[in-house]
Amino acid sequence: MKYCDTLVINGTTVAGEQGSQPVINPATEEVVASSPQASVSQLDQAVAAARDAFADWSRCDDQVRKDALLRIADRIEEHSDELARILVSEQGKPLMIAQREVAASVAWTRYTANLELKVDLVLDSPEKRIEVHRKPLGVVASITPWNWPLMILIWHIMPAIRTGNTVVCKPSEYTPFNALRLIEIIADELPAGVVNIVTGAGEIGQAISEHPGINKVVFTGSTRTGKQIMRAAAGNLKRLTLELGGNDAGIVLPDADLDSIAQPLFIAAFKNMGQTCAALKRLYVHEDMYDALCDKLVAVASKQKVGNGLDEGVTFGPVQNKAQYDYLNALLDDIRATGGRILCGGNSSLERGYFIDPTIVADVDQRSRIVQEEQFGPILPVIRYSNLDEALAMANDTDEGLAGSVWGKDMELASDIAHRMECGSTWINGHGDLHPAAPFGGCKQSGIGVEFGEEGLHEYTRTHTHHIVK
Ligand code: NDP
Repeated sequence: MKYCDTLVINGTTVAGEQGSQPVINPATEEVVASSPQASVSQLDQAVAAARDAFADWSRCDDQVRKDALLRIADRIEEHSDELARILVSEQGKPLMIAQREVAASVAWTRYTANLELKVDLVLDSPEKRIEVHRKPLGVVASITPWNWPLMILIWHIMPAIRTGNTVVCKPSEYTPFNALRLIEIIADELPAGVVNIVTGAGEIGQAISEHPGINKVVFTGSTRTGKQIMRAAAGNLKRLTLELGGNDAGIVLPDADLDSIAQPLFIAAFKNMGQTCAALKRLYVHEDMYDALCDKLVAVASKQKVGNGLDEGVTFGPVQNKAQYDYLNALLDDIRATGGRILCGGNSSLERGYFIDPTIVADVDQRSRIVQEEQFGPILPVIRYSNLDEALAMANDTDEGLAGSVWGKDMELASDIAHRMECGSTWINGHGDLHPAAPFGGCKQSGIGVEFGEEGLHEYTRTHTHHIVK
């Protein structure tokens, strides 16, 4: 398999000036390959190339940009198998999930290609017409995490390019290869400098956030880093879209049909081994059905086959990196020390790799670390409640507000509870399924701005209002 060891700057592949860094396969703890490391001067070159390319790209016919995205979707599709296998080896997810990630990336690119920026006519009187146009911002920097590295990169860069911006992207140091290969594949479909990629650790991310030549940063990752970016971006008042952590709650209503919700609840919590921003991270269950639902969740968990994502039949992979693995083990120690009951999982029988079997935890307190912190891994705390107001208060008792869900048969009641959840998206009888037409973003400290659909597209533009006196 080819692991791309070059950056793309101004349409040319170049070696990183800061040497290289090994990338670890989390299933084997072996080195996948060495990733190039860009210098800050190479970041400057990438920004300069993007600024130069902006002049033509922002002004070219809209159809040119639309066609480019459609060709890019075709190219990604042609390389589906290769990209999926790169994802498994550096990210750890099972091959089937990686294949879905690539397929979703293709579909999202095509959807974004077909979105249109409309001109709003806010006044059309005999004397005056006022039109609101949408203009691209300039150079957009994308900083991406390690959980859904390809999908999130697509979410960032396709609307940017579609609306006439140019891009500099920086993937996570843990999962750079899918991004490096993607950009290498698609760069041929775009004029030089429209899309550039630099890799490197926090230093490059910090330099991006401070860079006076960058007009917007779109970032997905931790709340801590999101705040650092916001501070650093103040220098030239960059536009920001920040998609940060979530500690999503799900509330199971007393009338829920446990047989039909157990499997979807499990998927909602353990999708991508729980390393998903809008995964179900805390589950509130009425006391009358608490033990029965816990048993059903344990039964679903026991059917998972944990192992290397490239092995036949594996449905559940490792945690992506050692730091996250150590953090999750510290949370497990805290659960044991504070009287939580680990109903299944809690460790793994595999000797190598950052594996934690799917873990269901009962009898944890609302104030415990596993409930208050975003675990971002395969551990689901199930919390007992006796009345719905209490459940809602506990669900909203967090600084995060990304998403939430309600599970039950009484749709009126479910809808009322969903409206009262303090978050950017709620699902009834589901959790975490995103749609390219539906705006997605958090409230409270889960972020700023939205992605997807027309509203998401607008985040890559500014308004330009024309007042026309007739
Ligand atoms: P980070 O937020 O640190 O990393 C995300 C991205 O930001 C990476 O590309 C990283 O680069 C980059 N970055 C790091 N420091 C800076 C900086 N000062 N300025 C600009 N960019 C920077 O996430 P972690 O990998 O440390 O994960 C920690 C926690 O974040 C997880 O436990 C989880 O809770 C949350 N998380 C949330 C995600 C989400 O989808 N909302 C995704 C991933 C993590 P580099 O890797 O090169 O340091």
